[in-house]
Amino acid sequence: MSSDDDEASDGRAIAWPLERLARVIRAREHEDGLNPAQREALRYLARANRFSNTPGALTRYLGATKGTISQTVMALERKGLIAKAARDARKSVRLSLTEKGRETLARDPWVAFEAAAEALGGKTRRRMQRGLEDLLSREVKRAGLDSFGMCSSCRYFRERGREGDAKGPHLCMLFEDTLSREDADRICIEHAAAS
Ligand code: SF4
Repeated sequence: MSSDDDEASDGRAIAWPLERLARVIRAREHEDGLNPAQREALRYLARANRFSNTPGALTRYLGATKGTISQTVMALERKGLIAKAARDARKSVRLSLTEKGRETLARDPWVAFEAAAEALGGKTRRRMQRGLEDLLSREVKRAGLDSFGMCSSCRYFRERGREGDAKGPHLCMLFEDTLSREDADRICIEHAAAS
């Protein structure tokens, strides 16, 4: 049986504010001489773990073409917001935010929105988080995209890692590598939902 809350609301009551919210925030994404794609790349690199901070992972995350991502990376590098470092012998590169990049990100409209979301009551925030995560996961699956989730919901994650490993306390069974608590809170290109 439906509760009063269910009867007073329908899918449009979720979809419309989300659409409008994205539009309102996107309008501010041209500040600081950046464009929305450059901002998305900065936000991604600030959240990605060390296995996922490459141009290839960024391409998959944004669902853009290699050429577009290459232009975006070059523009951010030119502006001094990101730096490239050699990743391994195969010459793939690792991207990271510079100090200037972190300062720019601190003024990002979505980062400001995090503070507004923080100000919601804890119960409201938790319910919204669960609902939005559920909707996002369904849409990602429907579109056949990578989940880019965090370790705690990944089938390769082990809460308890190698005994006495100071870089722990966790372990990734896919990369056979130790994960710190901070590592585990980052998004990953190889995330695979635990069944
Ligand atoms: S446990 Fe999963 S999400 Fe975490 S680093 Fe390993 S593959 Fe990535």
